[in-house]
Amino acid sequence: MSLISDNLQVVRADLSACADKFGRDPKEISLLAVSKTFPAGAVLEAARNGQVCFGENYLQEAIEKMQELQRLAPELQLEWHFIGPIQSNKTRQIAENFSWVHAVDREKIAQRLSDQRPSELPAINICLQVNISAEQSKSGVEPAQVLPLARAVAAMPGLRLRGLMAVPEASDDEATQRAAFAQLRKLQENLLEQGVPVDTLSMGMSGDMHAAIAEGSTMLRIGSAIFGKRTYAE
Ligand SMILES: *Cc1c(COP(=O)(O)O)cnc(C)c1O
Repeated sequence: MSLISDNLQVVRADLSACADKFGRDPKEISLLAVSKTFPAGAVLEAARNGQVCFGENYLQEAIEKMQELQRLAPELQLEWHFIGPIQSNKTRQIAENFSWVHAVDREKIAQRLSDQRPSELPAINICLQVNISAEQSKSGVEPAQVLPLARAVAAMPGLRLRGLMAVPEASDDEATQRAAFAQLRKLQENLLEQGVPVDTLSMGMSGDMHAAIAEGSTMLRIGSAIFGKRTYAE
């Protein structure tokens, strides 16, 4: 067996065992394979082993990979998620090529995605990125602004609001990880109490997936545990 198929088996088994441990149904937790920096061949290998959903951060890289996969394996039906930061001059290509967008944190970006979604495609599934744990990173909407932004997005015809996403400050301590994810879960609960329908908590990466599952994640975004260590070109 190749490394990627081994890794996928390990991650799936880990997901199931961890869900059991916290009394959750593993079927409620989907696995997004984050393939940024890895070639189309790596995506193909994961897809041949049953992986359907893939996450990408860099638009140009993602589009090239999709085109290559279209040539290599036109029969594959993959679901692409854009999980990186979104510049407003990139929204059209994102709206044309992705089923999900995870890092929406401004109404202006949401409006452009909605306006630019081709009418023959279903609405784009949207998660709002929240700046929890007061991290230095500037990305993500402030917790106090989640409700108004959620209401605005929910009203846009080209979009379907699904839930919240966060990338907490990295920590090796499971209690610290859980505290950050618990904040996101509470914001989600608040949306539901306010009558905004949401069903997705996009949280948990290779280093903190157990904490994310414990706190209610419904979508793990896993890169290195599936594809290996990333090396970035400068
Ligand atoms: C890269 C990335 C991931 C995957 O990270 P790993 O630590 O490799 O699992 C998940 N989410 C986002 C937003 C990312 O940029």
